[in-house]
Amino acid sequence: MVSTNTELSYNSKIEGEVIVTRADAVVNWIRSNSMWPMPMGLACCAIELMASAASRFDIARFGAEVMRFSPRQSDVMIVAGTVTYKMATSLRRIYDQMASPKWVIAMGACASTGGMYRSYAVLQGVDRIVPVDIYISGCPPRPEALLDAVIKLQGKIRREPSARKLFTA
Ligand code: SF4
Repeated sequence: MVSTNTELSYNSKIEGEVIVTRADAVVNWIRSNSMWPMPMGLACCAIELMASAASRFDIARFGAEVMRFSPRQSDVMIVAGTVTYKMATSLRRIYDQMASPKWVIAMGACASTGGMYRSYAVLQGVDRIVPVDIYISGCPPRPEALLDAVIKLQGKIRREPSARKLFTA
């Protein structure tokens, strides 16, 4: 006798609407499409950072337009500008106050290497005090370069073993 109970039968419609994936992939997909930047604007590069949020470049297309000046509400620090030793302590403190997982973009020559300032007052690269995920060259880099960095960071986040970190933290 053929069953008429469709719920217990093979249902091709339901099968077609089911997506099978890994927990890592889901967590990383969510994180990478909803980044909350901490705009660490320290010098001229910050002007280009501001431009990236305006309508012409529209960083919102990549889910990263919610810039927050509170480290408690941010997960991507964008270091845009010259990091002096005087600011370095504050920058590190702000980084420490951001909740994990968190990432850092070094925007421009100054943030990446100290730039033209081979000076006793300037840190020769922000990676001396915080781990940098993406470096952007240029003095200053254009907003498109920042958008490119955001896309690269999204790719990096999608490859992270997030679920394992969640359950072992
Ligand atoms: S890289 Fe150039 S534009 Fe950016 S903060 Fe340094 S001097 Fe200014």
